Amino acid sequence: MMPQLIPPPEEVMEILRKTGAYREGHFVYPSGQHTPHYFQMPLAFRYYDTARVLAVALSRKFRTQKEISSALPKVAVISPGPGGIPVAFGVREALSAEQIYWAEREAGGKRMFRQYVNVGEVNPCLIVDDISRTGGAIDETVEIVRQMGTRVIGCGTIVRFTGAPDRLEVPNDDPIPIVSLIEFDAKWYDKAEDCAECKKGVPEENVRF
Ligand SMILES: [Zn+2]
Repeated sequence: MMPQLIPPPEEVMEILRKTGAYREGHFVYPSGQHTPHYFQMPLAFRYYDTARVLAVALSRKFRTQKEISSALPKVAVISPGPGGIPVAFGVREALSAEQIYWAEREAGGKRMFRQYVNVGEVNPCLIVDDISRTGGAIDETVEIVRQMGTRVIGCGTIVRFTGAPDRLEVPNDDPIPIVSLIEFDAKWYDKAEDCAECKKGVPEENVRF
């Protein structure tokens, strides 16, 4: 089979299923929320071939944006956290971008770059992540990137929950689309009594995050 440059969502979903990165069942989060599906994206990135297909597909979506293609190779690819690091490396390679940075959440909860970064040394950037559930990690990353005096020129995730924003607002400029390979309509139940799987008596599995 010829690899497609941008596989359609159902093909990406099949990759996630096959690798165990997407599962259906009955999951309970530490927050007490119940959900019938669970994404554990790092499972898709433990296979080099799979990781490459996903990252190349995302990079193709970036290449179609003129502001990004014309800025290459002087571009930084930035991950909001550890989950996005393999995405950042894969996208960087596919685009031949110059820099990679990643952030982490410190003990106090504040998101910081893992690398020591001087103001002005980070190229115009793409923020990439494996999954966007609420958009919170991306927003925090946009904030620290702007503090570094760097412009965000693109943003993308492998999976985006439809409840998360599909664009970044930019002061005094056009919003930046958040591209993704899959837009997933996630189901959540805040209380067990509302959960359809509880009603059906499906065994629960507790998950960490
Ligand atoms: Zn339940």
